[in-house]
Amino acid sequence: MTADKDTDDEPLLFEQDQAATSWPIPRLFQEYGAEYKPLIAVALGASLLSPVVSLLPTYLLKVVIDSVFLQTTPFHVPFVPASWMPTQPWPQLLVLVGLIVVAAVTSTGLGWISGWAWGRFAQTVQHIVRTDAYEKIQQLGIAFFDDQQTGQILSILNDDVNELNRLLERFLDELLRIGARFIGIAAFLFYLHWQLAIIALLPVPVLAVMSRWFISRIRPMYDDVRQRVGVLNARIENSLSGIRVVKAYTAESFEANRVDDASKQLLDTRWDVITTRISFFPAMNVVNWLSFGVLVIVGGLWILNGPPLFFTEPLSVGTLVAFLTYNRQFTSPLIQVGHLIDLYHDARASVIRIFALKDYDIEIKDQENALSLVDIDGNVTYEDVTFRYDSDEEPAIEGISFEVEPGAFVGLVGPTGSGKTTLTKLLPRFYDPDEGAIRLDGHDLSSIALTDLRSAIGYVSQEPFLFSGTVSENIAYSTPDVSRAEIEQAARMGGAHEFITALADGYETEVGERGVKLSGGQRQRIAIARAIITDPDLLILDEATSHVDNETEVLIQTALREFSADRTTFAIAHRLSTVRNADTILVLDDGEIVEQGTHEELLERDGLYSNLWKVQVGELEELPDTFLEQTVDADAPNFSR
Ligand code: ADP
Ligand code: MG
Repeated sequence: MTADKDTDDEPLLFEQDQAATSWPIPRLFQEYGAEYKPLIAVALGASLLSPVVSLLPTYLLKVVIDSVFLQTTPFHVPFVPASWMPTQPWPQLLVLVGLIVVAAVTSTGLGWISGWAWGRFAQTVQHIVRTDAYEKIQQLGIAFFDDQQTGQILSILNDDVNELNRLLERFLDELLRIGARFIGIAAFLFYLHWQLAIIALLPVPVLAVMSRWFISRIRPMYDDVRQRVGVLNARIENSLSGIRVVKAYTAESFEANRVDDASKQLLDTRWDVITTRISFFPAMNVVNWLSFGVLVIVGGLWILNGPPLFFTEPLSVGTLVAFLTYNRQFTSPLIQVGHLIDLYHDARASVIRIFALKDYDIEIKDQENALSLVDIDGNVTYEDVTFRYDSDEEPAIEGISFEVEPGAFVGLVGPTGSGKTTLTKLLPRFYDPDEGAIRLDGHDLSSIALTDLRSAIGYVSQEPFLFSGTVSENIAYSTPDVSRAEIEQAARMGGAHEFITALADGYETEVGERGVKLSGGQRQRIAIARAIITDPDLLILDEATSHVDNETEVLIQTALREFSADRTTFAIAHRLSTVRNADTILVLDDGEIVEQGTHEELLERDGLYSNLWKVQVGELEELPDTFLEQTVDADAPNFSR
C-alpha cells in the first residue's frame, strides 16, 4: 500500500559484522583512551578510594560505642599512635567526631573528583568517536548509502554514541566503587570479628545466585525492547520521509496504525521488564532484611550468652552495631551489579556497531601514488566496461566501449533502465567497474586522485538535491567564495536567473528542505548553475532539463552550447531533441550500446534511435513490434533512479 519498502525485518549490516571485534570495549579504551591515561588514573584512584574512606565512619562509630560510651575495650584508633590520643572520654569523643567529619569530607571530595574526571573523559571520547564516525561515513562510497538506511546510520551517530556516555562515565566508576566497597566491607568485617564475619557474609552467595537469575531473565527482555524501539523508529522515519506519498494515497490511518502497533508492542515488552524488575528488588530486599534479622538475633545471643556453638571470640556492642550498618551497605551494591551488567551489554552492542562502521572497507579511495591532474584535456575512453550493483545480479551495463575526443558533446539515449545513469556514475567513481577500464586522458580513473577527478567533473544528477538554505548558497555550494556576479552568471547559463529574480527574495530566497519550495524544473536549473560555477573540465547532465518546458530548454541549450564547447560533456537526453546536435550519440538498450553515431547517421540506420525519434516527433503512434518488449517512453515521467 505504501510506496516505501517495508524494512522492519531487514537485518542491520552492522549487526552482521559483529565478528570483526571480539573485545569491543577493551578496544574502545585502547583506541580512544590511550591519550587520556593521566585523567583515567585520577578517575580510577578517586573511584577506588572514595568508597573505602566512606567506610571509616562506621568503624569509628564502633570505637565511640565500645571505648567511649561503654568503655569495654581500650581506646584505640588504627594507624594513630596511642600517645597522641587524649585519655578522657569527652575529648576522645571530640577527636572521633572530628575524624568522622574528616572521613566524610574526604570521601565526598573524592566522589566529586571521580565524577569530574569520568565525566570529562566520557564527553571527550564521545566527541572524538562521533566526529571520527562522521568523517568515516563521508568517505564511504555511494554503494554504502544504497545499502544502508539513513535512519540506521543516524542511529549510530546518535544513539550508539550517546550510549557510550553511560559506559564511559558510569560503568567503570560504579564497578570500581562497588568492588572497592564490597571488598572494603568484607575486610573491615574480618578485621573487626572474623567469626561473626563468616555468618554476616552468608547471604552473599544467595544474593549472587538471585542476581544471576534476574539478569538471565531480564537480558532477553532488554534485547526485545531494543529491537522494538528499532522497529518503531524505522516505521516513523519511513513514513515521515514519505509523508507526501502517504497523503497523496490517503494512507494516514494505515501508517498511524502501523506506528500504533509498533508502539503497543514496545509498551508490552517494556511492561514485562518492569514487572520482572519490581518483583526482583523486593525479593532481594527480603533476603537482605532477613540476614539483618539473623545478625541481630545471633549477635544479641552472642553478646548476652557468649559465643555460640564452636565460636570462641566474645562480641562487643559496638562491633555488632558496625556489623549491622555494614550489612545494610553491602547488599545494595550487589543489586547494582545487575544494572551494571545490563549497561555493559547495551554499551557493548553499541560499541560493536561503532567499530563495524569504523572498520567498514572504503572501497573507493586513492591509490598510494595517486596522480594529481593539473591540465585535463577531456579525452574519455570506456574499455569493455561491465558493472553490477550487486554481485549476484545482472549487470546494469555490460561490455561498454567507446572513446570521446576532448571537448566532445556526447548524447546518451535509451529506454528507462537501460543503464544511462549508471554509465555516467562510473566517471566520477561513484562506483568502480567490475570489468574493463575507464580512462581520462589515458589515465585509468583509479590511478587519479579522487578529489582531483571529482572536482574536474560537474555533475547534475537526475533528481537534483538542494540543501535547505538560500538559492545563492545552493548555487555556490562547493565554491563559497565566489562573488554575486559569478553566481548570477552561472544562473543565467543554467536558465535560472529569470525565475530567481522573480522570487520574493531573489537569490536570498529560502528553498526549503530538499528545495521543496521550488518546482522540479527550478531545482534542475539551480543544479545546472551549481555545476557550471565550478568551471568543470567535464560536464555530466543526467536528464538535467527533464522537468523544464521546451522553450526554456532551448534557452538553456543555447547558453550551454557555448559553455560546453571546450568541455567534454555527457548529456543524458530526456527529449531526443536535446542531443540532436551532439557530436556523437550512444544508444543504450538493456545495459549495452546498440547504436552509435550522429543524429543523421542514426536516423539513416533506421534502428532503435530512429524509431524513438519517430515516436517523439509524432510520425509513429508506437514503436514497431521489434522494439515493443522494451519500455520505450522517453517522454513519460521518469521513475528510474
Ligand atoms: P537509466 O538511467 O537508463 O534509466 P539506470 O542506469 O538508472 O538506468 O539503471 C540501470 C539498471 O540498474 C536498472 O535496472 C536499475 O534498476 C538498476 N539500478 C540503478 N541504480 C541502482 C542501485 N543503486 N542499486 C541497484 N540497482 C540499481
Ligand atoms: Mg537515469
